[in-house]
Amino acid sequence: MEIKIMKNILYCNNKLAQENRELLGEKGIVSINILASPGAGKTSLILRIIEALRDKIPMAVVEGDIAGSIDAEKIDKLGVPVVQINTGGGCHLDANMFKEAINSLNPPEGCLIFIENVGNLVCPASFDLGESGRLVIASTAEGSDKPVKYPQAFQTADAIVLNKIDLIRHIEFDRDFFYKGITAVSKAPVFEVSCATHEGLIELLTWIEDFYKSKRVKND
Ligand code: MG
Ligand code: ZN
Repeated sequence: MEIKIMKNILYCNNKLAQENRELLGEKGIVSINILASPGAGKTSLILRIIEALRDKIPMAVVEGDIAGSIDAEKIDKLGVPVVQINTGGGCHLDANMFKEAINSLNPPEGCLIFIENVGNLVCPASFDLGESGRLVIASTAEGSDKPVKYPQAFQTADAIVLNKIDLIRHIEFDRDFFYKGITAVSKAPVFEVSCATHEGLIELLTWIEDFYKSKRVKND
């Protein structure tokens, strides 16, 4: 019985996600769903990306959090359109929440939307929002076992970021084990970056620009 209910929830979600995808596609809008555990650096990375690409690409942000609007305020300070979703305890965003966010955001045609999902590597992986692609972030500080423990998130990623790479000198991090976990489920490119020192960001920014352009072309 439980399985049936879960299947039904996902069926309804996927239908809505498809509607979101079509709506955004018609407007030439590209969206990237960002998945990571709490503290991996989702907001910091979004801020760095906005600073670097704001003159090239119109951007907007959807912030998903259980409570509060601390991260949305940081985005707002940069003058980028942002909408906060509070899930009120819910541990993931779903397609209906994203739909409501799009409605209140009213994003301009051809923009790039970053969706900061709730900090959690488990169920956000199961909920399609209608996004164009997924970025999964892990940070060195969390240890090297995240891909092995949460394979579904990494499996659905279009790109993977290993953040806080500047800390790797100070902690025990098994790089081989981390990459083994990824290659077991994914062929996505991995970018080793630091939002603090900015190392490795250029390669990631290039990937984001290329991804945006490729999805825009498909929509035209
Ligand atoms: Mg955040
Ligand atoms: Zn959840």
